Amino acid sequence: MAKGVDKMRLESHLYQALKNNDINIMYQPMMDLNNQYWVGFEALSRWTHSKLGVIPPDVFIPLAEETGFIVEMGMIAFETACQSLLDFQQQRDLAYPDRKKMFMSINVSARQLTSKTFLPSIKDIMARYAVSPKQIKIEITESLVVDYARVKTGLDQCRKMGFSLSLDDFGTGYSGFQHLLELDFQTLKIDQAFTRTMFENQRSLTLIEVVIDMAKRLNMEIVAEGIETERDNQILTKIGVDYGQGYLYARPMPKSHIIKQLKQGI
Ligand code: C2E
Ligand code: MG
Ligand code: MG
Repeated sequence: MAKGVDKMRLESHLYQALKNNDINIMYQPMMDLNNQYWVGFEALSRWTHSKLGVIPPDVFIPLAEETGFIVEMGMIAFETACQSLLDFQQQRDLAYPDRKKMFMSINVSARQLTSKTFLPSIKDIMARYAVSPKQIKIEITESLVVDYARVKTGLDQCRKMGFSLSLDDFGTGYSGFQHLLELDFQTLKIDQAFTRTMFENQRSLTLIEVVIDMAKRLNMEIVAEGIETERDNQILTKIGVDYGQGYLYARPMPKSHIIKQLKQGI
């Protein structure tokens, strides 16, 4: 919680921020480790309050979930991210027409997935933007535990519509294997906790290797999160991670910065 501000106050600030369009989306590139170019992005929400300053997502996302604001906030993020992907792809096609299509990962919370409006809203967005659902990865975090049956129904519908599913923060919760058993994920994201400790702790590296092996056998693509050093990059590339996300390659950036870099041919 932001210092000195009680929850109800923050809740009303968040409501105002949503109405005033003050929640911005930043994009963090993901690196194709074998080809060493940007292959996709994760859309991440940002909120800077005029008086309170930066409120981190770890604070306002749970609040948005609790209040239900996440449903509207998530749809704005979804639509903004689709528009941005089209603009990013246009720049990429100008610079490198032969490279594979890029993707956009969008975080979706359980509260969104179980809301009645979620599927009709994404259908509507897909009808309005010329983006293929294959280029959108719906990212859900492993610790998503609420009403499992309804979450599954929502995610199964998304798969039927052609979206990709990505399991975020793998290894941090206790239900990751259940999700893998019951849902058709195409991507698995290894949590930063493993990348951060893989040089200090042999067990951590062994676990990453086992997870990569499992994911490959399940025909999934693997993303490693939190790559901060060249040493991380080298080892993760060597042991078969497909995509890397982390400060080594790029921090989350505004859309205009991404466009500029794509124009320069990154
Ligand atoms: P996440 O989905 O696991 O996103 C990755 C987080 O790791 C981001 O934090 C990103 O800024 C951070 N990160 C990326 N590379 C590095 C690195 O090299 N080192 C370190 N230390 N951190 C790195 P962020 O943006 O603070 O977001 C936190 C969480 O908030 C996200 O975790 C996601 O679960 C949630 N979130 C953010 N935006 C949204 C949203 O629009 N909707 C929903 N439902 N959740 C969101
Ligand atoms: Mg994520
Ligand atoms: Mg994550």
